[in-house]
Amino acid sequence: MNTIALIAHDKKKNEMLEFVGHHKDLLENFHLVATKTTGTLIRDTFGLDIETMMSGPLGGDQQIGALVATEQVQFVIFLRDPLTSQPHEPDINALLRLCDVHNIPLATNRKSAHILLSYLAEKGRESDAEA
Ligand code: PGA
Repeated sequence: MNTIALIAHDKKKNEMLEFVGHHKDLLENFHLVATKTTGTLIRDTFGLDIETMMSGPLGGDQQIGALVATEQVQFVIFLRDPLTSQPHEPDINALLRLCDVHNIPLATNRKSAHILLSYLAEKGRESDAEA
């Protein structure tokens, strides 16, 4: 089962919840991992099964980066707040870099995240048709 990592900065957490609510049926077909606060909110709101790492500022982005580097994460949706400086900026940059090193699709805003999930939905329909 493919794994999707979900991360949202504080000012983007509502956007993440809207996004997950919209795509809940599809996301249920994936293994989900998230940084702690993001994942806990998603679990409490939608009851989705989601593995949580540490909070981003405490090392969660690095943990997800390690999963990317070891190819245990296939897609990353990271709703970043580009207007607020973050104490863990180096960790964020490291995660983005690792996605590029390992050619892992990375969506950093809601529209690109929708496009990514539309692609996954289409792929799912194709493999259902082949089965
Ligand atoms: P959080 O971490 O989900 O624990 O808030 C995300 C972040 O701020 O990087």
